[in-house]
Amino acid sequence: MQAKEFENELTYHSYEADRDVEAFHEAYEDAVEAVRAELGATHDHYIDGERVAAAEHFEVTSPGDQTRTIGEFAAGTPDDIDDAVHAATAVSDEWEALGVDERVEIFRDAAAEMRERKFELAATISLENGKNRTEAMADVDEAIDFLEFYSREFERADGYDFDTGEPTPGEHTRNLLRPYGVFGVIAPFNFPMAIFVGMTAGALITGNAVVAKPAESTPLIAEKCMEIMQDAGLPDGVLNFVTGDGPNAGQPLVEHEDVDGVVFTGSRKVGESIQRTFFEQDKQGPVIAELGGKNPVIVSDAADVDAAVEGVMKGAFSFSGQKCSATSRVYVHEDVEAEFTEKLVERTEELTVGHATDRETFVSPVISDAALERYESITERAASDGTVLTGGAVRTEGDFADGRFVEPTVVTDVPHEHDLARDEHFLPFVTIHPIADLEEGIRKSNDSEYGLCAGIFSEDDAEVERWFDEIESGMCYANRSQSATTGALVQAQPFGGWKHSGTTGKFAGGYWYLQQFMREQTQTRVE
Ligand code: NAD
Repeated sequence: MQAKEFENELTYHSYEADRDVEAFHEAYEDAVEAVRAELGATHDHYIDGERVAAAEHFEVTSPGDQTRTIGEFAAGTPDDIDDAVHAATAVSDEWEALGVDERVEIFRDAAAEMRERKFELAATISLENGKNRTEAMADVDEAIDFLEFYSREFERADGYDFDTGEPTPGEHTRNLLRPYGVFGVIAPFNFPMAIFVGMTAGALITGNAVVAKPAESTPLIAEKCMEIMQDAGLPDGVLNFVTGDGPNAGQPLVEHEDVDGVVFTGSRKVGESIQRTFFEQDKQGPVIAELGGKNPVIVSDAADVDAAVEGVMKGAFSFSGQKCSATSRVYVHEDVEAEFTEKLVERTEELTVGHATDRETFVSPVISDAALERYESITERAASDGTVLTGGAVRTEGDFADGRFVEPTVVTDVPHEHDLARDEHFLPFVTIHPIADLEEGIRKSNDSEYGLCAGIFSEDDAEVERWFDEIESGMCYANRSQSATTGALVQAQPFGGWKHSGTTGKFAGGYWYLQQFMREQTQTRVE
């Protein structure tokens, strides 16, 4: 069968191409009003096709306005996880037995429904996790892309089932990939739709049953996506949904003896502890983990400096730097350092800090009190150990009083070896470091335990070629003014990291992702 072609969902760009951005803004603003009106409800777990009430709930509030309750969500416990894993285990064989076409159809139908409801979903993301409207829509688009791409790939490979013929007379062989059984899905807050949907769909489409736990700060958008996948035709028990925190819901899911594999995106600390748990419990299934980054960008003396400024600004400050792919350290050739730095500071000071739902907002609020405290701590250290060129303050004036707003921050005069230039902060914070030549830039870029994204700005093709050869990074972008390190598209720029940025070396939204959720079997029959 001819597999369906794949095209990225590029909502905002398509409105721009149609010269109709006003229609985009109107639809988004109407959706914000509608979603606001439905906030504040109490939400349960979803186990074996039914709502399951919890003994306790936790409140989620909006990062830009903590007086606005998003909802009360079920506080998951080890018992809830146990019930959910049992439900998944009971149906996993039946789910595997369903044909490729039937399974794929469910995810295509879910994608169609998300497309239909994209403005509502984007508005939900803005209110719950604080992303501005174009970033929120990109999150929705990416979720749709994952569903379409994985459906296309699974169908194209015929479910990874090959007739390998008659190797010796009378022997008939088949080589196939089969699901592990039950997967735990543990998601982060920062792409609360795309990553939640992508990981869940990856585990499910390959025939595993799932227990999914979203981040504790973004359960509402995850619940909506779970419902869409469920309504698209998943049999009861195949997708179970438990909300709650890491220690009480995440850890028991990882430790449960009937959970065969875990797919995780989040911090290095948690991801590596999940790996250790699997090892200590002698579990054989995979831990597919996408982790943090400390993404370097080189600006060479052969760079288009204006393009570099634009790329670094967008890479460092979109969604307030709360992206694993955010630009966080910049190695600038000393001949262009003064010009680059001055222009970056100027451009940064033009950015609008504001509420996620306001049209002009570029720098939106940060997710949690812990993130706000981290911001205060690193900007204080930057002021004492280096020079803060712009930013460094928490904003509390006017209607910022009830939210968590911070200024985008550019820092210089901290050595490359300093913690500020080595640790992931996950905030709108970037450090600038002078270099004498490309060699030094590459050496310092690679001198990190992470290897997620990297960028270079140089008009010299030989420099770019050398950099592609030598940079230790999963995603590498040259001369990308739309963002030096962020903004990967499904299929074209599969997402994942080298070194401590990931555990498998295979990337989400790429051609080798789905196989990780399966194990190989050869079947030989003598007739
Ligand atoms: P986090 O690690 O704090 O939380 C991620 C998830 O793990 C949440 O659902 C949380 O409840 C759960 N969790 C926490 N402790 C746990 C435990 N002991 N056992 C099991 N689960 C537990 O991450 P976050 O703050 O939500 O997200 C930010 C991090 O995610 C950053 O480090 C960022 O770089 C990373 N990230 C990586 C990628 C990627 O593709 N490489 C993408 C997005 C985010």
